[in-house]
Parts: sequence; C-alpha cells; structure tokens
Amino acid sequence: MRIEKAAVLGAGTMGAQIAAHLANAGVPTLLLDIAPNELTAEEAAKGLTLKDEAVRNRIASAGFEAAKKAKPAAFFTPELASLISIGNFEDDLAKLKESDLIIEAVVENLDLKRKLYERVEQHRQPGTIIASNTSGIPIHLLAEGRSEDFRQHFLGIHFFNPPRYLHLVEIIRTQWTKPEVSCFTFGFLDQRLGKGVVPAKDRPNFIANRIGTYGAMVTLQTMLNDGYTIEEVDKITGPAAGRPKSATFRTFDLVGLDVFAHVIKNLYEALPDDPEREVFKAPDFLTGMVQAGLLGNKTKAGFYKRQGSGDKKEFFVIDPATKEYRPAQKVKLPALEMAKNLEDTAERIKTLVWSKDRVGAFLWKTFARTASYTANRIPEIADTVVEVDRAMRWGFAWELGPFEAWDAIGVGKSVARMREDGLKVPANVEEMLATGAKSFYKKENGQLFYFDFAKSDYLPLAELPGTIILKSVKDRTGVIKKNAGASLIDIGDGVACLEFHSKMNSIGGDTLQMVKQSLAEVEKNFVGLVVGNQGQNFSVGANLMLMLMEAQEENWDELDLIGRYFQQATTSLRYSPKPVVVAPFQMVFGGGCEMVLHADRVRAAGETYIGLVEVGVGIIPAGAGTKEMLVRALNTIPKDMADADPFPFVKRAFETIALAKVATSAEEARSLGFLGADDSITMNHERLIADAKKEVLALAAGGYVQPQPRTDILALGNSALATFKLGIHQMKRAGYVSDHDALIGEKLARVLTGGDLNHETRVSEQYLLDLEREAFLSLVGTRKTQERIAHMLKTGKPLRN
Ligand code: NAD
Repeated sequence: MRIEKAAVLGAGTMGAQIAAHLANAGVPTLLLDIAPNELTAEEAAKGLTLKDEAVRNRIASAGFEAAKKAKPAAFFTPELASLISIGNFEDDLAKLKESDLIIEAVVENLDLKRKLYERVEQHRQPGTIIASNTSGIPIHLLAEGRSEDFRQHFLGIHFFNPPRYLHLVEIIRTQWTKPEVSCFTFGFLDQRLGKGVVPAKDRPNFIANRIGTYGAMVTLQTMLNDGYTIEEVDKITGPAAGRPKSATFRTFDLVGLDVFAHVIKNLYEALPDDPEREVFKAPDFLTGMVQAGLLGNKTKAGFYKRQGSGDKKEFFVIDPATKEYRPAQKVKLPALEMAKNLEDTAERIKTLVWSKDRVGAFLWKTFARTASYTANRIPEIADTVVEVDRAMRWGFAWELGPFEAWDAIGVGKSVARMREDGLKVPANVEEMLATGAKSFYKKENGQLFYFDFAKSDYLPLAELPGTIILKSVKDRTGVIKKNAGASLIDIGDGVACLEFHSKMNSIGGDTLQMVKQSLAEVEKNFVGLVVGNQGQNFSVGANLMLMLMEAQEENWDELDLIGRYFQQATTSLRYSPKPVVVAPFQMVFGGGCEMVLHADRVRAAGETYIGLVEVGVGIIPAGAGTKEMLVRALNTIPKDMADADPFPFVKRAFETIALAKVATSAEEARSLGFLGADDSITMNHERLIADAKKEVLALAAGGYVQPQPRTDILALGNSALATFKLGIHQMKRAGYVSDHDALIGEKLARVLTGGDLNHETRVSEQYLLDLEREAFLSLVGTRKTQERIAHMLKTGKPLRN
C-alpha cells in the first residue's frame, strides 16, 4: 500500500484544511464538493450558466480559498496550495480511481454520507482506503450496505480542528476493516501527516470528545449548582489545572454553543444505557443561550462578550442568575496564587485538588466525577488508560491525561475520599488497588509500565517505534554531563544529544559552556552529536536578563566576552570534527536560530517557527547569525550568473533580519534561508530526535569531513552601505521606522557590507564576526535598546520605540 494521491470529499471547515495538510505532506489531493443548482446574482450578472466550470466548482473553490486564507495558516507555504485540484461530485467522481486514499468530510448526516459512498463505490478502485472524518456517526453504520472490498478498506479517521495544528487523530476500525488497512493508515497518519494517532472504539464521539464533553458538562453543572462565577471556573480550570488558557467557558465560546448543544444531544440519544446519560442533557441556561442566539465567538456574544477595541476594550460575562451581561471581574483565589510557584504540573494539580477552599472543592468534585466516569469507559471506548491519556493530551492540550492526573492526586487517597463522599468507585480501579497496585503508571529501572485492567497487571508501555524519549534515556542511563542549562546524553549507537533545559530554553553562559564541553566529549568518544530537546520550544534565544544586567552595569568587556563565547559556540557546531545535526521545533528565535544556521545538517519539525528576531530587542544577531545570513545570501546567486549584481541578494538578508521575519513552518524556513536544500523535515515532532540521530549516523557513515571557515566572503563595501543608508533614511522620513529602528538598520547594513571598505573586498568569517560584536556592543549601550530588552522581559512582546 502507498499513498501517492488522495482525495477529500467535502470542502467545508474540515475537508479543505485536511486537504491542505495532505498537501503539506506533499500528497497531491483532489478536493470535491457539491455542484450548486442555482446561480448566485454575481454569476448571473457575469453571464455564467450552471454548466460553467467556475459555477460547478464554486463550493469546492470557496472552501479551497478559505483554507488558503485560514488563520493560523492551513498550508505550510502558499506554494503548496498548487498540489490541490478542485472539482465537484457531479463531474469529477471518476477521478477518484486515481486516489489511494479518500477522506470524506461532508455534512454530519448518515443518509447523505451513505448516498455519497454509494456513488463513490462506482469509481473507487478496489483496495483504495476510504475514511470518514465524522465526529459522531458510528463508523459501522456508515459502512453498512457497501461491498466487501469497500468495508474492508473503510475506517474512521477523526481529525480535530484545525487539523494541521491539533496533534490528535483518532482511528476507528469496524468489524470489517482489514488489520493491514488500519495498520498502514496509522503509519501514514503518524509519519507522513505527523499526527498523534490513537486507536478508538466505534462508540459515540470516540474518546476525546466523549470524555471532554462529559468533563465540560460536569464543570458547567457544578458552576451552576455550587454558586461559582464563570470567571472563577475559567481561572480554576485553565493553566493552573494543566489545561489550555481557554479553560472551560472560553472553549465553549470558541467551539460554538450551538455545536456543543448538538454534540450533547447526539450523545444523549446515542447512549441510552450510559449510567451518566443525564449529564449530557443541556441545562435550561445553555438551551436559553442557544435560543437567544448567544452562540459564542461567531455571534460575538456567548459566555463572554467583548465590547470596544484597543484600550477601551472591555470584557463582559453572562450571569446565569439574571441572564444579563455584567463586567467581568478579576478573580482572587489565594490557592491559585500560591500554586503559581509550582512549576511541576502534577505537583500543582495535587496541591490544588486537595486544597481546603473553593478551588479544592470545585476541582475535587469535577475531578472525582470525570475520573470515575472515564475509568468506567474502559474498555468501552479504548482498550487501556494509555489511549485515553494520549487522546486528552493530544486532542484537548491537557498537560496530563485523566489517569496521569489521577496518579498525581493519589489513587488510594482519592478512592478513600470517594467512598467518604458516597461516590461509587469504578470496579476496575477497585480491582487494581486490590492487586496491591497503587497507580495507573509506574516506572521501574527507567521502564514505564501501565496498569492493564484486562490483564489485571502492569504491562510495559512500549515507546512508539522510531522515537527516542530523552527523559526515558536519562532514567535508564543517566547523563554524561549536566549543568543548570543543558545536559549531554548518550542516545545510543555512538550518538550523543545535547539537550537544553533552561527556562523556555533560553541560552545563557551555562548552555554555551555545555556546547563546548559536549563537542569536546563527542570528539573523543562519539561519532556525532544531535542538538535537540523535548521541551515546549527549541529555544527562545539568548538569555536577555543576563544581557540587560551587564549592559546596565556597563560591563562592556564582559559583554564582548559573552559575544565571543556565543560566536564560538555556534560556529564550533559546524567546524568541529564530528557531524552535528540540530533538531529545531516550535519557537526557534535569535540565538536558537543561530545554532540551527551552523549545523552540519538540520532536521526540523514541520511545525518550526524560526527567525532572527534580535531587532525586536534593539540589537542585531551577533552570535554569527548576521555573518551566516550574508554567506547564505551570496550562495544563492546562481553559478551561471557570476556577473549578477550581488546587492539584491544581500538586501534579502538585510530584510530578513531587519524585519525580524519568522518562518511559520519549516518549509517556509527554506525560502527565508534558515534551512538549506540538504536539510530535512520530520512531520511528527515525536520522531524528531530519532530522525536527527539517523542523520548523524548517515553523515558519519558517508565519511564526514569537517568544513573550513570561509575567508573569501564578498563584502560590497561603502557604496552598498550608502545605498542601504539612503533606503533606511527614506523609510524613516516616510514614518515607517523609528529613529532607533533606523540606527539598528544602519548597524546591520554596516556588518552586511563589511564595515568601512572603499571597494568590494573578500573578507573572512572572523572579520564579519568582529563587526557583529562591535555593532551589538554599540547598540546594547543605548537607552532605547535597554528599554526594548526590559519590555520584552516584562511583557514577552517587542517594544517599538
Ligand atoms: P462544514 O459544514 O464546514 O462542511 C461540510 C461540507 O459538506 C460543505 O462544504 C458542504 O458543501 C458539503 N455538503 C453539504 N451538503 C452536502 C450533500 N448533500 N452531499 C455532500 N456534501 C454536502 O462541516 P465540517 O465542520 O467541515 O464537518 C465535516 C465533517 O467533519 C462532519 O462529519 C463533522 O462531524 C466532522 N468533523 C468536524 C469537526 C469540526 O470541528 N468542524 C471536527 C472533526 C470532525
């Protein structure tokens, strides 16, 4: 089985974005939707008829255009949209014979979907995988009545919205689905589309939405019954409890109250035997809001309403008692204030659930009910606790799944409290405790085990093949070296990994020191090095606090030394005798980007947001980044254009840095020059370290020879600098940039043109590095730059001064 071409049926919210993500994975995709049976006024005015292709494809085309404009972007780069072709169900179903995978995402209606399948069956080649993205219709009902080959190749592939960004995909087989079909599809979704795939049973709304909806309903009802405000509940059920910022009611507003009401209605009807069925009944308050058209963000009023804009923006919240909006209040809950200092999520959840106040009371009540409901759903919705935890982490962005959270709170203690409260303890949890087991997960000698209810025993939790989990490696083998900022770990087969683990992975002196020590260790004892980690972000750049303190104390020599140290660290990644592969993902800013720029090879996650953002804090890249962008810009001059004017190429590097451009995907990072032609992409970030390790081994096996620093870099000199200065001056006069922006721009241009050179000159890397530091030092001494740094540290946002 291979997927060379795909088709998506239905170009609505989900269909168009699923097609976009297939394109992101390089799969040419056909996107079809219904052919309209009426002309729009605009079409009629243009003299078009129902026979014109533009009209027949109008709906698919509108979906495609919406995907191109989606925010956050559905496509990695605009160019990838060319992999999608559009059509309609009347004229183009015959093209399905070329597809190896067909994903249906039309309206949620059993009859309509079945009718469409009947037509698809006439064109689909035997052996083609066909899937539905339905959220709530049982998969076996969709397959009923179809041919044997169709049923054997049919399954549910449940993406979450937006499909590019939400990691979870649930995969649901029926009694007819061939094991090799679901197995192959699992691999495709994991490796090509980069998704976290969880096998779910064919039960209403599968895993994540079933549990998530139950939890949300219990939260809503507890809020109503126990006299909490909406703001309080959102504060309690957000990041404090290891959940996303949108918490409970902002999530309702985001999803749409009508959509949510539809989901619970569906669950209520589909679950006649569920002992907790009544929970899925909408409270009058919710029904009233839907009837009043208060549907959330799409109607600009839901649980919250925003009025005014800019500084005058005010938040209102609905009061369940009066059904009127009132200004949202700032929440003051001392338990939450205290828990803020607990960085470890498990520790924080435990402290909050057991706190003896309003916060503890709320969390205990909602947690106990949801946890016990969830345990009772095994094996109905999933075989083990592992699938449920993954589904909730990957689909709902919970930091801990329900069983992981239960372990954190303490299973024995909470079961005792459940009994005290007169709550029924799930039988499988009782049985687990009776075997002497105390938690759903345990770790022994670095191996993680989970409790399997069916076997009534612990089973080893196999790490997904093709992944390396650094934490597990460290548990098993310890570290080779470590300080507060980073560790060096042996990841096997002669490859070491340098892992950053400072706050936000910002790069300070300790990290730089570990770079140096790691390279020395690798030179002696390893075949090569991976630089990567499994935190939230690869790195947000240099430690600004350190920089600001030195600058305020006017320690210029110290700052120059830090600059040198930084430059040595980044350039040594390239000029060390062993191959170094850097594995960026998520945010890769400033100094983090400079590390990437100096790798022998980059293995980047598909979702990599990389850029040299230094100007935002009033400096220029001075960890060899400016030098490297110049070298790269000059390298892009085609060989057969030796006489070409190099200025436009240098100007591109200038713009990338001066505008602090950040690539919105690894693919886009190529066009900005942060990634090169030999650098490759891993779609599933969980595979990144393992894939980077393979790259190291391939480089080593290929007879790696370390490159030598360049001494022949073309510097354009004063005339080019004058051109830059003129451009900057005009931007300033036109009011596009501030005086300080202009100053930074001039300093940057000076480095990129080689300083004070009367004519074009070939210069060395070291020459440019010295210029970088000089510019950096002169900027960091200015008041405005120091204000920018301080502002960034305080707010996380750049200051334009
Ligand atoms: P949507 O309403 O945005 O798109 C549905 C598409 O179906 C439209 O483009 C429409 O033109 C087409 N359609 C309408 N009538 C049709 C007919 N008679 N025959 C064939 N096609 C017809 O819906 P959506 O949100 O993209 O949902 C599509 C599917 O994905 C549903 O099964 C839904 O349950 C599922 N789903 C949705 C989400 C979500 O968050 N929106 C998430 C996961 C799964």
